Amino acid sequence: MSISSSSSSRFNRRQVTGVPTRCWCGRKLTTFCSQTDENPFRRFYRCEIAMQRKTEKHLFKWIDEALLEETRMVDAKVKRLVDEMKELKNEMLAKFEHQQKVLLDMEEMMNEKTNEMMMANATSFEEMVNATIENSSEFRIMMFQFAKRSKYFN
Ligand SMILES: [Zn+2]
Repeated sequence: MSISSSSSSRFNRRQVTGVPTRCWCGRKLTTFCSQTDENPFRRFYRCEIAMQRKTEKHLFKWIDEALLEETRMVDAKVKRLVDEMKELKNEMLAKFEHQQKVLLDMEEMMNEKTNEMMMANATSFEEMVNATIENSSEFRIMMFQFAKRSKYFN
């Protein structure tokens, strides 16, 4: 196992997405301007030690690419937040609907109980009225018989 292969894989793993803050060597990054024919005046991030030791592998990143990645990351984050908000809203709606159903069930149950109680009261009231009527007719018969008898005896 050679040192260069293990160190290069370590560097690859450290590839940063978005705007880098530090080089993986620990140094702060500086922005430089490219003077090559392929990328004239294109700006990039590099630590100063990398400019002195060109053979070593240090972080290199084009600023325009970093900014584009950063924008995409923010967009993804916003999308995630919007999705989370939608999920939360749906959860709240489902909870609200459930509570509403529970309330409706309770109302229905109470209505049923009230009706049952009213029916029971009505039945006992009817029985009471019937009993009174029955008693009064018995009383009337008794009075009639008493009157007849007293007339007979008179
Ligand atoms: Zn460095």
